[in-house]
This record gives sequence, C-alpha cells and structure tokens, in this order.
Amino acid sequence: MTQPSPEILAASSTGIARAAKLLTAGALVAFPTETVYGLGADARNGSAVANIFAAKNRPSFNPLIAHVADTQTARRYVEWTDTAERLASAFWPGPLTLVLPLKPGHGISDLVTTGLPTLALRVPAHPAAHALLQRFAGPVAAPSANPSGRISPTTAAHVIAGLDGRIAAVLDDGPCTVGLESTILGLDGPPTLLRPGGLPAEAIEAALGTPLAQRAANAALSAPGQLESHYAPGAPVRLNATTARSGEVLLGFGPMDCDLNLSEAGDLHDAAANLFGHLHRLDATGQPIAVAPIPDHGLGRAINDRLRRAAAPRG
Ligand code: AMP
Ligand code: MG
Repeated sequence: MTQPSPEILAASSTGIARAAKLLTAGALVAFPTETVYGLGADARNGSAVANIFAAKNRPSFNPLIAHVADTQTARRYVEWTDTAERLASAFWPGPLTLVLPLKPGHGISDLVTTGLPTLALRVPAHPAAHALLQRFAGPVAAPSANPSGRISPTTAAHVIAGLDGRIAAVLDDGPCTVGLESTILGLDGPPTLLRPGGLPAEAIEAALGTPLAQRAANAALSAPGQLESHYAPGAPVRLNATTARSGEVLLGFGPMDCDLNLSEAGDLHDAAANLFGHLHRLDATGQPIAVAPIPDHGLGRAINDRLRRAAAPRG
C-alpha cells in the first residue's frame, strides 16, 4: 500500500512529539541512531511490525531489536538479571544489545522475536533517538531504514530515496556518524557474544570480570534470518494443504474450514502479524500441522520462507 511522501520532522520538541504520536498510531517512523537510520514501529503492535517487513520488501523474517529509552523501560519486557544490570549501568545508552528471556505478559509482538522466547533490547545513545523513545515511552522495533538488499541509510534523504510512499515520517537530524552495528550479547545463559559490533568484547569482559562464551556460528548469525535458534514447531509441518488429513490440525488462509486462520480475508499483512502466534498455538496441540497455500508475493514471500523452514526435515 502506498502512502503520501513521508513527513520530514525536525528533531525539535514539536517534531519528536509528532513522531511519537505517529508511532502510537501504528505508523512507521524512520529515525537516526548512532549507526544508521532505523525504521521504527511500536514493537507491541503486530500489524505495525508487519509493515516494517512490507516496507523493506524483506523476503524473510528475522528477529528485530527493540529500542527503549532506559533500563527501567527494558525491565518491563524481560527477566532482568544482575549481569544485565551491571552491563546496562556500564554501557547503556550505547551500542550494546542484550538478549534476555521474555517476561510473562510482555506484550511484545511475536513478529519482533520471530516466535523466540527471548527479546533483543538496546538503549541507543543518539540524542534524537533517545528523545523519541522517551516521548513514546514504549519499545520501538527498528531494523535499518532501507529496502531489503540496498545500502543502509545514513541521511534522511537516503531514507526517502529508498522508502518514499511506504513510511509515515522521517525524523531528520542530519547524517549519522557511520559506526558499527551494535554488539549483541546473549544473556539467556552464560554471557555469549552473538554478534561483534560497536562495543568491543574486551570492554564487556572487563566489566564482567569473566571471558565471554563465543557463539560458533557468528558468520551465519549476522546474515539476516539465519539464526540457529529459529522457532520451529515440534510437530511435522505439511505445506500447501487444502484440507487436514486425519490427526492433523489445519492452519488456514482465506475463507476456508480450518482450526486457525492466518487471515480469513486473505490479507497477507494480517497473516504475517498472526503467523508465529498461530503456529505456537497449533504446536501446543501436539498434532502435525497442515498449512494452506499462501500467495508468494509481498509479505507472502517472507511467510512462505518461514513456513518452508518449519516444514524442512529436522537434523
Ligand atoms: P540489526 O541487524 O542490527 O537490526 O539486528 C538484528 C539482529 O539481532 C538479528 O538478525 C539477530 O542476529 C539478532 N537478534 C535479534 N533478536 C534476537 C534474539 N531474540 N536472539 C538472538 N539474536 C537476536
Ligand atoms: Mg540492514
């Protein structure tokens, strides 16, 4: 769906207030961070998060980092630990992303986590990003604000060149100082470096007083959508099914008889927002899952990519 050209908002109190209001309304707002311009959506709003993938024309879903204004806000969504506290006091705001177990009742869309039980969180240091997050007072999911496969944007003009007609606004605060991506640290077990980035591992090790575990497949991890720990249902998954076979539960799309429907109206956007939640619910039945055909265009490509992974033979 195309929309008018994005509003260009200054990083003034009026511009920040407008950007926060748009986020609250479920719209997409690009904003500067320390590294590149991010494409932000309310991380609690599945439909808004689906729009991130649609606007970027991403052929796959990868988990997104949720950006928050401060540690206090981060703690609403995840099981906080002493280690998290120590690292947050030392390095937030800054280029460190912490992956922690989600809290019950967290309210984060499972399109942000791609159905994983953990959430990646960061408090960015860029003043405009910080002001926006403070004003919004919630979690903002944000990958880089460029179409999939294109170069990351470091100015508002880059954002508009790539995403004109697909986003509501861009908060323009000049060029980003092109830095490195954030360092990603897994804290759902022993502290593990998941992606090297702007904060050196040595600084983290010095703060913790212990060496970090290294994730073996770092290279694969930094490639979008290649997490080893991708959510996959426990039961077998059969694709392109029009009816359930005996013992199966059927995940539908469009008007049809089924156990759960991704979108009765056949809307790919709604289907994306429902995908992980519906898979989890059907998985909980313990029965094999049959899945109706999903059109392979727009968000349907990312949905099909994920369904193919879920249906692939397990190693
Ligand atoms: P970015 O490319 O900076 O937007 O960061 C997104 C990356 O963060 C993903 O591609 C993953 O590598 C990582 N990530 C996000 N959420 C998680 C998570 N729950 N567990 C592990 N890694 C994550
Ligand atoms: Mg990117």
